[in-house]
Amino acid sequence: MIKAEEYYQALLDKSPEYEGIFYVGVKSTGVFCRPTCPARKPKFENCEFFETAQEALLASFRPCKRCRPLSHPNQVSELVTTLVNAVEANPEKRWKERDFQELSVDESTARRQFKKRFGMTFVEYARARRMGIAMKQIREGDSVIDAQLDAGYESSSGFRDAFSRIMGAAPTRLGQHHSLKASWLDTRLGPMVAVGDEEALYLLEFVDRRGLEREVERLRKCAKLAVLPGITAPIRSIEKELCQYFEGHLKDFKTPLHLLGSPFQKCVWEELQRIPYGETRSYADIAATIGKPSAFRAVANANGANQFAIVIPCHRVINSNGELGGYGGGLPRKKWLINHEKQGI
Ligand SMILES: [Zn+2]
Repeated sequence: MIKAEEYYQALLDKSPEYEGIFYVGVKSTGVFCRPTCPARKPKFENCEFFETAQEALLASFRPCKRCRPLSHPNQVSELVTTLVNAVEANPEKRWKERDFQELSVDESTARRQFKKRFGMTFVEYARARRMGIAMKQIREGDSVIDAQLDAGYESSSGFRDAFSRIMGAAPTRLGQHHSLKASWLDTRLGPMVAVGDEEALYLLEFVDRRGLEREVERLRKCAKLAVLPGITAPIRSIEKELCQYFEGHLKDFKTPLHLLGSPFQKCVWEELQRIPYGETRSYADIAATIGKPSAFRAVANANGANQFAIVIPCHRVINSNGELGGYGGGLPRKKWLINHEKQGI
């Protein structure tokens, strides 16, 4: 868990002991900084905290020019500076071997130096930056969830283009068989992304969900598979089931799911699937049911880490006092889903 208040205080104090511990993304300017940045400090509500530079990039923040968060901890080599600047000059570029040659940079040296400094290769860095930008475009074109709920949703090709840019990384060594496919699904509550292979679904999430790019990246790493645009049988199946669900004709999803998580998370997700359609439970209820009554915070975290919106019904979990609690896809959607199911029973 990120300790926002502690980090914010460290930011105000410019505490050097927090260097490398966290980075701060500033929503009002779109840049991310180190804790000791000399620039004027943002308001708390404009801060988003990250424990790695990569996460900040994936959330579509660009590196601050004053504190240069990618130069931590020491002065970086000229080669790294050159490449970071080249990415900022053209952040949507896909890097190929000849691009390195044009900059007179040796690809394997670049890879090694990036890995050592930032814990990611240069190509991962460039991809993180590119994905962050594409996701931001999607969100900016799609910020009014309430209006969508009222008017129904019309997809635009701009969103799809940005989506293909995120998912479209061509496989290098691996063939088409060893990849996950990602599809764009238009639903009553806005566009969703479904990722799956021929056996099961790996992810189903609203496209504008905060942190979706981190989830996709995590999936890529955990499954050790490329994610490419495409469609598979489980994706077709979930598209059909979602239609029926939104029409009020389906209460239990049958599409097979491939769960990637810790044993505790899986246990919570299985329990969520036992909450009947049209009913709600509290985090404390779930903790008690799995035999760990004091673990309701951990339950809430597992709930938030759910990778299958609607299908694993984390929207059916609310606060003990009856308030809605949180929802990764946004509270208007949670409210809508709960009401929709109440009408269907
Ligand atoms: Zn800065």
